[in-house]
Amino acid sequence: MTMENKKSLESDKANAEIPERKNFIREMIDEDLKTKKFAGKVHTRFPPEPNGYLHIGHAKSICLNFGLARDYHGLCNLRFDDTNPTKEEQEYVESIMRDVRWLGFDWEDRLFYASDYFDQLYEYAVQLIKKGKAYVCDLNADQIRDYRGTLTEPGKDSPYRMRTADENLNLFQRMRNGEFPNGSRTLRARIDMKSPNLNLRDPVMYRILFATHHRTGDKWCIYPMYDWAHGQSDSIERITHSICTLEFENHRRLYDWCLEELGIHHPQQIEFARLNITYTVMSKRKLLELVEEGHVKGWDDPRMPTISGLRRRGYTPESIRAFADRVGVARRENTSDALWLEECLRNDLNKRAPRVMAVLRPLKLVIENYPDGTVEELEGVNNPEEPAMGSRKLPFSKVLYIEQDDFREVPPKKYFRLSPGAEVRLRYAYIIKCVDVVKSAATGEVVELRCTYDPETKSGSTQSARKVKGTIHWVSAAHAINAEARLYDRLFSAEYPDRENWKDSINPSSLEVLRECKIEPSLAKATPQDRFQFERLGYFSLDDDSKEGALVFNRAVTLRDTWAKIEKS
Ligand code: ATP
Ligand code: MG
Repeated sequence: MTMENKKSLESDKANAEIPERKNFIREMIDEDLKTKKFAGKVHTRFPPEPNGYLHIGHAKSICLNFGLARDYHGLCNLRFDDTNPTKEEQEYVESIMRDVRWLGFDWEDRLFYASDYFDQLYEYAVQLIKKGKAYVCDLNADQIRDYRGTLTEPGKDSPYRMRTADENLNLFQRMRNGEFPNGSRTLRARIDMKSPNLNLRDPVMYRILFATHHRTGDKWCIYPMYDWAHGQSDSIERITHSICTLEFENHRRLYDWCLEELGIHHPQQIEFARLNITYTVMSKRKLLELVEEGHVKGWDDPRMPTISGLRRRGYTPESIRAFADRVGVARRENTSDALWLEECLRNDLNKRAPRVMAVLRPLKLVIENYPDGTVEELEGVNNPEEPAMGSRKLPFSKVLYIEQDDFREVPPKKYFRLSPGAEVRLRYAYIIKCVDVVKSAATGEVVELRCTYDPETKSGSTQSARKVKGTIHWVSAAHAINAEARLYDRLFSAEYPDRENWKDSINPSSLEVLRECKIEPSLAKATPQDRFQFERLGYFSLDDDSKEGALVFNRAVTLRDTWAKIEKS
């Protein structure tokens, strides 16, 4: 872990709005530490399946698992649950490692793959067969389903359930040798076809699948099922607390059964409610569909709830960790408000994003009584919340751009910006007055404002006592750099897109692109992912698509209370 990461992790705690909350998982761990259940150790793991990019739900699980290890001076492993060769790819493995690191966590030398354990898992299966606790079954998938019964009806025993251990050992070996076609046989745990828990009705442990695995190649044509691979992998790694989401609650008895039958190290499985967020879908399958069907530009589209999308949008690791802390850990399904995530980013960027002036929809403004050719260097404060961030020079000249929205020919009541005859302060500069309006002969649109300035009103000077109600931002036309701004809205217009046909609520106008933006020159050297507050407009980050002279900014999040704040300054 880099020093910087460490520092920022430590400062998370210091800055947390809510002190670290006790939750039921911490209570369980505290109890285990008291009773010395795992010799006083805490060892967790984050076990992603490399079949997609990580999303904010995974981020919560990462923060939880790595966070517990950090706080209890334990360890956390990264383990790829790569038991499904048909859906997994190296690209996903790499993106997952990048995302975990970016979030500020470090698995050190503990990077594992379930596929590392395929030999051991096979040996464990042989042990169960020898104990009469597993058998080779010739039913196909449909038949297995038919035999399983339902929640109200018990299942029926498979006709192959009574095979002898020797027969099973022989058939299992031949399954491994590739003697039988895909799907023709399975290895099943021999538990109880009448159990009220369907997961205990002789669950499948292995299936035959002729597929090339991203790490083991063609070595295997039988692959372990999740339930078989997962608990035993936890045990091999000597995990103490195996934290997973609620849908695995009904699997816990199977998890325990396997470990007890094998008599090996037995971690405690603990379930918590997965993170859901309003106006968002979170399943990898759906996110993949959004990508493949072109509803977004890719996994890292800034509208996606993926970690890579959030990063590209301008989210900081600190803001995501703060969010994970804030939503906490619950035992029951719930949905978190999308606004909380935004609020966490605002809080973080408020402290560290430099303020700059940028005009998204420019309107030309000429100061008639300002001398031609003069350029004044004005002083702009980089961050009023953080004096240590200093100040910068802003060129001011006769021709400026202001925001179209900061002028109204017919101002509504309480409009304190510019209108014919009205005065406004230019941030860090002078009070100006609008004396004339130039319109396009063709369209009638306002294309230019003619103004005068009052030289006695320079910001910060001793004479600048005169006050006006409004302050607006601007850039000097001759010095501004051109940029594109991408403004994002919610990707879904329904609060709970999963409750209906989720694709119906995709928001067709979730992206607005403005190509004629004018930005103050201090941003010429910005690099991708640098984040700024465009005064009065929101927090923006420089996009990866930027090239020298053609900057592209993503609006990460809007500001709130913009007017309330700026009028005081
Ligand atoms: P999805 O359902 O989105 O496809 P998954 O559970 O199949 O996700 P995995 O790669 O298996 O994805 O998940 C890795 C870890 O992340 C698991 O421990 C899982 O419980 C956890 N996780 C996945 N989604 C969420 C979520 N929304 N909230 C909290 N934890 C999650
Ligand atoms: Mg999963």
